[in-house]
Amino acid sequence: MRAITTVPPSGGITLSQLDLEKGDGVKVRTLFTGICGTDKEIALGKLSFARPEKGRSLVLGHEAVGVVDDSSGYSSFKEGDIVVPMVRRPGGCRMCRLGRQDFCEDGDFVEAGIRGKNGFMREEFLEDPRFLVKVDDPSTVNLAVLTEPLKNVMKIKETFQFLRGRIPWYCQDSTLSCKNLYVFGTGTEGLLISMVFKSLGMNVVEVNRHPLGENIMKFLDDNRISYIDTSSERLDIKVRDMSMDAAIDAVGAMDVLKEITDNISNNGIAIMFGTSGQMPSSTFDILERVVDRNVTVVGSVDGAKIHYSEAIDFIETHGKTMHMDRIITGKYSPEDLKIFTEKEKEEIKKVIAWS
Ligand SMILES: [Zn+2]
Repeated sequence: MRAITTVPPSGGITLSQLDLEKGDGVKVRTLFTGICGTDKEIALGKLSFARPEKGRSLVLGHEAVGVVDDSSGYSSFKEGDIVVPMVRRPGGCRMCRLGRQDFCEDGDFVEAGIRGKNGFMREEFLEDPRFLVKVDDPSTVNLAVLTEPLKNVMKIKETFQFLRGRIPWYCQDSTLSCKNLYVFGTGTEGLLISMVFKSLGMNVVEVNRHPLGENIMKFLDDNRISYIDTSSERLDIKVRDMSMDAAIDAVGAMDVLKEITDNISNNGIAIMFGTSGQMPSSTFDILERVVDRNVTVVGSVDGAKIHYSEAIDFIETHGKTMHMDRIITGKYSPEDLKIFTEKEKEEIKKVIAWS
């Protein structure tokens, strides 16, 4: 079968011919795989922790949706079921044994398509049924390829709901309609964060440092999400009109954390999701503001099986009405390897169609 492979940590990208692995598991035929920044970094040899499962090469791909071809006697699945495979697989620590490998204590996990486990950019794969999540509504199969990035957002939402219970943080009418959330970054994760928090009833402002293309502007307009381009408008002036009660970063730059602590309201909540791999710069004044303003800053990575299920529910409930299809800006064949190195105009999420 065709498979897209790389040789970590040095990188490169090849369309290879592989056999299906031997062993137990549900046989899944891949329908779509998404490409994200992590895949591109692995292909460019920029991700130092990327490593093969065995031998030298690694099958790429951690965002996928497929269909069960052979349930191999596992009663939890049947042929024809639409499924999303999980990325991170547990190690032996306490949190991993509790099914919360997203809170792994010692880093002894593997991640499909990233570190220590072959990914899903291949025509079919064998999967342990514990790590497959079912999509109930087959009409959402095109959007279900966004489940993996969306599960990160579901964990962010869970973290946010937990943190806001610190004090009575809701509005006088008991809703969140007076609360403003600023989301930094307009890539796939930033847009998914905006959707999910809009659906909680908050006012959402997207923040970026360049003008946006027509497609994203339409997506934001349709969902009544506002936008500020800080290359031509001042964030502090916007915040004077519309307070920054909460902020979520999907960029991963130290100066974004500073923009947040400079502008966030007292008792604000800041959730940091983006990563850049760069060393932090000066943190002194950032820390001072966090303390003085009672700001809660928290980091969030990955998500558990429950967040995959919640992501699928969100897609089934809101995917069509909130125009989630606008996030998928191109579908390609596995032979189009240049999509890993070339950026299209107005690109958000590129998807490979496998059949
Ligand atoms: Zn662990």
